[in-house]
Amino acid sequence: MIRPSVTGKISEVFCSVQGEGLYTGSRQLFVRFYGCNLDCVFCDTKLSTYERYTPNELHDIISGFTKNYHSISFTGGEPLMQKDFLKEILQLVKKDGIKTYLETNGIFHEELKDVIDYIDIIAMDFKLPTSGKHDKYWQEHKKFLNVARKKEVFIKCIMCLSTHNEDIEEVTSLLKDSARNIPFIIQPNTFELSKRLLDKAKACQDTLFDISNDVRIIPQVHKYLLVH
Ligand code: SF4
Repeated sequence: MIRPSVTGKISEVFCSVQGEGLYTGSRQLFVRFYGCNLDCVFCDTKLSTYERYTPNELHDIISGFTKNYHSISFTGGEPLMQKDFLKEILQLVKKDGIKTYLETNGIFHEELKDVIDYIDIIAMDFKLPTSGKHDKYWQEHKKFLNVARKKEVFIKCIMCLSTHNEDIEEVTSLLKDSARNIPFIIQPNTFELSKRLLDKAKACQDTLFDISNDVRIIPQVHKYLLVH
């Protein structure tokens, strides 16, 4: 019996410039997955529409783009919410020799285990409760990082005026033995840019140097470039 192919909900596919993290400025092909398990207050990708594709249909769309990009960014929403579909499309693009990059909110560690063999780079969010006004995901993030560290991974977190120092102290205590060589990016909230916020980010950087030897403050550049 032929197994019916899983379908995925995809909001858009486009080529643009990466605006966050270590690969800021790199040209990437973005595949934006529909749906997210969180509802962060600063979210700039609230999605309302999608198309349903089989992995082969999405692969055909990807193949239609000129390969003048660094990697394919599987982004969202949260791609790991559609893990079975993600696994199939990752396998197809890896056969083409394309580098794969996963943007994730860093919560679905069991799902990550199932797809990590096909991912080259992981951009993992660390959700600070007082930045995004949501629940705490400390243990999920820790478990996620323990899986993700098998590949190239970096952590990013949004710093807002509302962010409490206790959140940063909690991160420091949680990751003290596991994040030494993992880059940590602090992203000041674009809507609150000010000297006060930069000072807060620098204080946070000082604290995080206790757990990582590579802590950077990098704004979300795509908001300046006016790209997606
Ligand atoms: S995890 Fe990302 S996509 Fe989901 S609500 Fe938060 S910012 Fe938006």
